[in-house]
Amino acid sequence: MIVTGGNRGIGRAVVERFLAEGHKVAALSRGGDAPDGALGVVCDVADAASVEAAFSQVEAVHGPVGIAVANAGVTQDTLLLRMSEEDWRAVVDVNVTGAFHVAKRAVKSMLRAKWGRLVFTGSVVGLYGSAGQANYCASKAALVGLARSITREVGARGITANVVAPGFIETDMTAKLDEATQAKYRAAIPAARLGLADEVAAAVAYLCCDEAGYVSGAVLPVDGGLGMGH
Ligand code: NDP
Repeated sequence: MIVTGGNRGIGRAVVERFLAEGHKVAALSRGGDAPDGALGVVCDVADAASVEAAFSQVEAVHGPVGIAVANAGVTQDTLLLRMSEEDWRAVVDVNVTGAFHVAKRAVKSMLRAKWGRLVFTGSVVGLYGSAGQANYCASKAALVGLARSITREVGARGITANVVAPGFIETDMTAKLDEATQAKYRAAIPAARLGLADEVAAAVAYLCCDEAGYVSGAVLPVDGGLGMGH
């Protein structure tokens, strides 16, 4: 299996979870580092050729890829009127175009195997919205359309495509937020705490298991109730 952004944060927790379940796991990131036991592969998901090369490298070592978790993501927050073309593209290129590159390449071998599991890491804010994150929220909402279109295209071939939608999870990404923003989120979360990367990894593991073969095009929240109803 492949996990993009598998070197840290949520992706790393997904890698460790699947390693513990006995999978052969490749962690893709720009630096190429990986947790012990995983194959670390250099990959910039925004670049189609880099994704192609990474998949070939993984297949040479592990064989065909049956599970792909498109998890790599970035933020570049600012208010709409201050958002530059570069701010927009930096986020969309990784979060959406990167997921497209991974999905397209992964589905190729999944079709041959007549089995596959695609999971996209979305976000609660994809459907909830977030001031100062128009680029990020739009990119995460796009993953829902991507997963659902893939479901309609290849759902009859044993392949599922789902979105896991984390809320506020303790990682490098949220550590960047100032204390006031963190406190505001915490106050709005029914569970009254931030989430753990392992809690997201457990949801990803479910979506990828054999028993989840009839779950596709779904958005599975892991957000302590923050996004209820959205
Ligand atoms: P981190 O910032 O901790 O990790 C981001 C990961 O993405 C890193 O592994 C990074 O690797 C990788 N990455 C970034 N750009 C690229 C690229 N161009 N090519 C390949 N890999 C790349 O974030 P999180 O673990 O918090 O986030 C993981 C996912 O979860 C993201 O999609 C994020 O949007 C989503 N999410 C996170 C939430 C949170 O509260 N933390 C909430 C909701 C969603 P490297 O920089 O080494 O290349």
